[in-house]
Amino acid sequence: MCEKLKNLKNNELKIAQLLSKKILSAKELQKIINVDKATIYRNIKSLLEKEIIREIKNSKGVGFYEINCKTHNPIHPHFECVVCKKIYCLKELKSEDAITLANYSPFEIKEIEIKFKGICDECKNK
Ligand SMILES: [Zn+2]
Ligand SMILES: [Zn+2]
Ligand SMILES: [Zn+2]
Repeated sequence: MCEKLKNLKNNELKIAQLLSKKILSAKELQKIINVDKATIYRNIKSLLEKEIIREIKNSKGVGFYEINCKTHNPIHPHFECVVCKKIYCLKELKSEDAITLANYSPFEIKEIEIKFKGICDECKNK
């Protein structure tokens, strides 16, 4: 298990465990854990402050969350479906790709955030 989850309890632990397997929105988390909305948002806020999870927003401003761990979930590009607005995780960038991309920035880079947009398989096959 990820180090980051060690000192968590109750709902925070449940949320972090779910997010270490899959990227989910607050709504999806609420459906799985079955607690009220305020509890979900409070726990998400606290996990974000502790830098245990990271947030990826879709173009509507809806946040999707995943575990924020360089070992268990290295930074990777995301895909937003223009139909359902869902965010999908893509595979990690190869280091040579990251170096190529870094060449586009005249400034010092801390991390690279990439989002692709298109139509996901679920929406395409409807
Ligand atoms: Zn970890
Ligand atoms: Zn879709
Ligand atoms: Zn992701």
